[in-house]
Amino acid sequence: MNMSTTMQNYIDEAEKALLHTYNRYQVVFEKGEGVYLYDMDGKKYLDFVSGIAVFALGYQNQEFNDALKAQIDKIIHTSNYYYNLPAIEAAKKIKEISGMDRVFFTNSGAEAIEGAIKTARKYAYLKDGSTDHEIIAMNHSFHGRTMGALSVTGNPHYREAFEPGIGNIKFADLNDFDSVMAQVTDKTCAIIFETVQGEGGIYPATEEFMQKVRKLCDERDILMILDEIQCGMGRTGTMYAWQRYGIKPDVMTTAKALGCGVPVGAFLMTEKVGAHSLVAGDHGTTYGGNPLACAAICKVIELYEKQNVLDNVKEVGDYLGKRLDELAEEFDCIETRRGIGMMQGLVFNRAVGDIIVKAMDKGLVLINAGTDIIRFVPSLVITKEHVDDMMAILRESIREVCG
Ligand SMILES: *Cc1c(COP(=O)(O)O)cnc(C)c1O
Repeated sequence: MNMSTTMQNYIDEAEKALLHTYNRYQVVFEKGEGVYLYDMDGKKYLDFVSGIAVFALGYQNQEFNDALKAQIDKIIHTSNYYYNLPAIEAAKKIKEISGMDRVFFTNSGAEAIEGAIKTARKYAYLKDGSTDHEIIAMNHSFHGRTMGALSVTGNPHYREAFEPGIGNIKFADLNDFDSVMAQVTDKTCAIIFETVQGEGGIYPATEEFMQKVRKLCDERDILMILDEIQCGMGRTGTMYAWQRYGIKPDVMTTAKALGCGVPVGAFLMTEKVGAHSLVAGDHGTTYGGNPLACAAICKVIELYEKQNVLDNVKEVGDYLGKRLDELAEEFDCIETRRGIGMMQGLVFNRAVGDIIVKAMDKGLVLINAGTDIIRFVPSLVITKEHVDDMMAILRESIREVCG
């Protein structure tokens, strides 16, 4: 890509200082506005990644920024040994949008998964006093990079060098209930999966699978844990993706768009699980649920309602899906399109890295999921015009690479 020597110099410096855990695209983003990003050279990009499903309201939402600034001028941090107003308000709001009963605020998605795992183990421990309970997770899942979250992540490549994980984890296939049944024992304490698999390739759970897992969990008092970190917060057209299935999880996790860029997550549970799991001394966090993070959550939820974000996801998300279907028809190198609302994947029969780089060149930011899928997780306030603009650049980029 063409770039100034200044930008190149910064990238070189970054490569000398940062631990090399990412193969980064060759760009330094300096600011954002709406659904656009600007690099150091002033080049403008249409952003269909939104920081990986994070910046749902677009960049520089004035009301959001003002709320954060106001909170900074009051207090940024206290401690979970005291109450604070934004946390009380955020807890109320997140209960409303999720229908869950108890919340614990974390600093990230992975940390929310850790809490969910601990909740399940404690719940089972209180029943029989033993510590050999098992958790069933899914192949191709992604739950984060900390040891517990990694242990339930169904990508052996991510886990390999870091084994042993937390132990007693078994894997089944999403949407294959028989494969779940094959792993169930009287030691199973939880079944965890993403309502729509993100990293693993944008695979929505089927209604049938959801219903059957729910029934199994009810019959055997197993906790159903849904990871809504990527697919939640309105991305599929309902506040949480599971809400379209007519079931309810026992425990769920949320993060990414929850704070729209302020690092925050949460795990939530029903009253029953809350009453029979973690108690004082079992779990904690220094930062989790601090006033700044919770002020962000409160404003995000308020703005979702005020700006009718869910309606926009339904309308423009449908449109996005249809337009992507056109591309799947048009190009032999595309196999199919998968997804719900504004969580879409275009599945190629080849690696997509060079298509994404071409699109970047032309001012469009996209991201992959695995090697052969382009993932679309834009801000939830995009319009049909943005979709059309994206389509034009993407079509050209695919044409140049696939012919
Ligand atoms: C991103 C993600 C995580 C991990 O969240 P972090 O904030 O990066 O720790 C967990 N689960 C899913 C489904 C995710 O998409």
